Formats: sequence, C-alpha cells, structure tokens
Amino acid sequence: MAQTPAQTQPRTPAPTTTDAPRWSLAIHGGAGVIERAGLTPEQDGAYRASLNRALAAGAAVLESGGAALDAVQAAVQVMEDDPLFNAGRGAVFTAAGRNELDAAVMNGPDLTAGAVAGLTTTRHPIAAARAVMEQSPHVMLIGPGADAFAAQAGLEQVDPAFFFTERRWRGLIKALTEAGLPLPERPAAAPAPGAQAAVAPPLNEKKFGTVGAVALDSQGRLAAATSTGGMTAKRWGRVGDVPVIDAGTYASNRDGCAVSATGSGEYFIRSTVARDICRRTADGATVQTAAEAEIADVGSIGGDGGVIVMGLTGTPAFAMNTSGMYRGAVSSAAPAHVAIYADEP
Ligand code: ASP
Repeated sequence: MAQTPAQTQPRTPAPTTTDAPRWSLAIHGGAGVIERAGLTPEQDGAYRASLNRALAAGAAVLESGGAALDAVQAAVQVMEDDPLFNAGRGAVFTAAGRNELDAAVMNGPDLTAGAVAGLTTTRHPIAAARAVMEQSPHVMLIGPGADAFAAQAGLEQVDPAFFFTERRWRGLIKALTEAGLPLPERPAAAPAPGAQAAVAPPLNEKKFGTVGAVALDSQGRLAAATSTGGMTAKRWGRVGDVPVIDAGTYASNRDGCAVSATGSGEYFIRSTVARDICRRTADGATVQTAAEAEIADVGSIGGDGGVIVMGLTGTPAFAMNTSGMYRGAVSSAAPAHVAIYADEP
C-alpha cells in the first residue's frame, strides 16, 4: 500500500488580519567557499536571477492556495534544470565520469517521505522522490531500480548525457588529477568541448551546489525537498546526506519544522542535522536558534555547510558556517529576496 498522498487540492486562503504570512517559502542552491572576489558581476547576477526564478515557481503554487509539497517540488525542479547548480542538469561527476543523482522530499503533516539515490536517467530526481513517497510502499529506492520505478511512474527519462556540463567535467578532471586517480573517458554522447559557453565560477571554487526548498502553505502544512549530484569524484556508489531522511531533509508539522541542508554530507549524516533541528524546535527553540545551534554542532565534528528551516510562523531561518550559501525567501507578506554571501542580510 502506498503512503497516504498529501492533499494537493487548492483552497482559497482566508483573508488575514495580521502581518504573519499566510504562506512562506525559502530555498538554497548550495553553501561553501563563495566569496565576492570569486564571482564576476555576471556570475553573481546569473545566480540571483536563477534563485528568483525558483522562488517565483514555488510562490505561484503557494499564492494560488496550493500545497507546500507542490511548492517545494516546483522550486527544486527549476534549479534541477539550471546548470548553475549541482542537481539534475549541471550535477557533479563521479570518479567514473557519470552523473548519479540523489533527492528526497518530506511532507510535514503526515511524516510521509520519499528518497532516491544514484539516478542516472530521470530528468527531475525530486519528482522521483515524490513518486516513491506517493506511489510505493517504500521510502528510499536506489540505482537502476529507482530509475525504472520513475519511468514506470511516467516521469521523463533522458539520456545520461543530458546532465553533462563542461564546467563540471573540468572540475572532475581537476579533482582526479589532484588526487592522482585515473581519468575516465569523456562520455561519447557529451557535447563537443567548448560547445557550452555557460556562466561558470572559476574551478578553484570549493562549494556544495545542492539545491533545496522548505515551505509553509496557507493551510499550515510544512514540506521540505532537497536534490543533488553529491560530491565531485565520488566513488563506490557513495551516497550523501541529501536522500537520508533525518540528515539532509526532514519536515514535521508536529515539531513545527521543515529543513533542507547542504554541505559535507558524511558529517551531516553523522549529526542527523535535519532531525536534530526539528527536535530543537519541538523543545521550544526558534527556527533560527535551532538552525544555528545545529550548524555549530556539525561544525564541531568537522562538517561544513548550511541549512534552511521553515517553521509554523512562516519566518524562515538560514544558518551556515561557510562564507556563502545561495539562498532566497518569499512569502505572502514579503517580496522575494535572494542572497549569496554569509554577511548579506
Ligand atoms: N550534501 C551534499 C552531499 O554530501 C553535497 C552538497 O550539499 O552539495 O552529497
């Protein structure tokens, strides 16, 4: 039997007489060493424009009375399609020269969740995670079986070369060369070298380009979604925190909290970052205090990264121990706002 699907029936929200937002959305496009000196004005602008597109996609769902679950999926899919981010098209490569994609989604009201790891042919991994949640009795599917399930669920399948970007390929060659590891053959179906003239930060960047979204809808439902290509030059079927419910992704209306994380996944798994943040909010912490305390905890064991958190009041929280995190927020009470560097409001 499948897990109970979330209600997605739109409902016109009741007019509000307070300043508390009826709905609210926050997104991230990865944390890491992201400094002003490392991005040209064009690159900086391209990231901000892309974050604004993702916010607009999620906001359109929420403004029309739609579900938080639909909003986080809509926002994440925009970023999965954008080669600027390490998710979907633009994902990093494994040491074997493949793109293996991970994603997870969780619905706060009923604690249903779905996750996928190691996808290679499903265009939108977040849609596959949602299909696992709503159309299977399972929480996590991996590898070829997960792609087969997604295809059976009617989700768009692509040639693995769809995910190829020159910038990530160069990043792989650099990482493997530095590690003294063998270089894989360039995928036969990849575009010719030089064919992709994309806006791309320099290759000496150290950042996690995972994408994620958390939302509160006008019916008070929370949801979280995260999608990634993982870490450059990952080996041996490595899976990070993103598809691990409790680590990179978690949402619970009972705890008043939805979390999406980005960072050094092994540390985020060991710290059960997303679940811990929700335990803290359940114990009375604000989302901001909970997020900061948890990032300090994961930092204390050596982890780097950031989180976005949504609570039941609709005030989003952002916390990171890196110099930047691509991020943004919008609500029924506040216009879209995006930021990149840690010291930006
Ligand atoms: N957390 C992701 C992973 O470890 C990486 C990222 O955030 O970009 O797979």
